[in-house]
Amino acid sequence: MKLSHLLAGYDNVLLDLDGCVWVGDDATPRAVEAVDALRGAGKGVAFVTNDARHSVEDFVRKLWGLGFRASVEEVVTVGSALQFVLASTPTWKRAFVIGSDAIHRHVEAAGVRETMDGADVVVIAGHDRFDYDELRYAVQAILNGAQPICTSRDATFPMPDGPWPGTGAVVAAVELATSAEAVTIGKPSPDIFHTALDRLGPGRTLVVGDRADSDLAGAHAARLDGALVGGERSDDAVACATTLADLILA
Ligand SMILES: [Mg+2]
Repeated sequence: MKLSHLLAGYDNVLLDLDGCVWVGDDATPRAVEAVDALRGAGKGVAFVTNDARHSVEDFVRKLWGLGFRASVEEVVTVGSALQFVLASTPTWKRAFVIGSDAIHRHVEAAGVRETMDGADVVVIAGHDRFDYDELRYAVQAILNGAQPICTSRDATFPMPDGPWPGTGAVVAAVELATSAEAVTIGKPSPDIFHTALDRLGPGRTLVVGDRADSDLAGAHAARLDGALVGGERSDDAVACATTLADLILA
């Protein structure tokens, strides 16, 4: 399987998951072949995701289940990036957390205690069981002085039955109610890409994702080239393609 001309110019490729490698529980068409072709050509590959609903191990399991080879080191989640930020900010000792079980585990692993009142920091990460009480506690903690931080501002993520509201929709609710602005940890913040490049080593790097406002903007913030797949287009992308395979395979 041959690579496209575009890919000849890069040593490393950082792949978004939702809307790029897969949609819901299905790989995008020929994505498995495309990632195999990258590996066959000796490219460094990492999977970089703003999805805060699952752990690194969950993603590795899902990738193997869909036919992709992947290791724990190759998967960089916004949860890991969050854990790093929490652990390296000593003034944040107590947190109120909106998030999945995976996000709660990252907060604990960072040495930050969870609390219903008196929080220094409020973590906002979209998840499937989000409810009004979480919104209420988060808003009150922030109005009492806690710093809001969020795992992304992605308004939606693609699912087979259409877009689902993402973390950005929850962040919007919190920010509207508090007039506070949350610090963003995931894409378009460049930190998550720096984490991936730390693991892959130096080289010319291409970011591939389906969102201009997070994948492409994050690539540029990290001073990397970005390509778009999945239908969104932008003049700032080095290429736009319908699918990951269309971008990568000759
Ligand atoms: Mg995506």
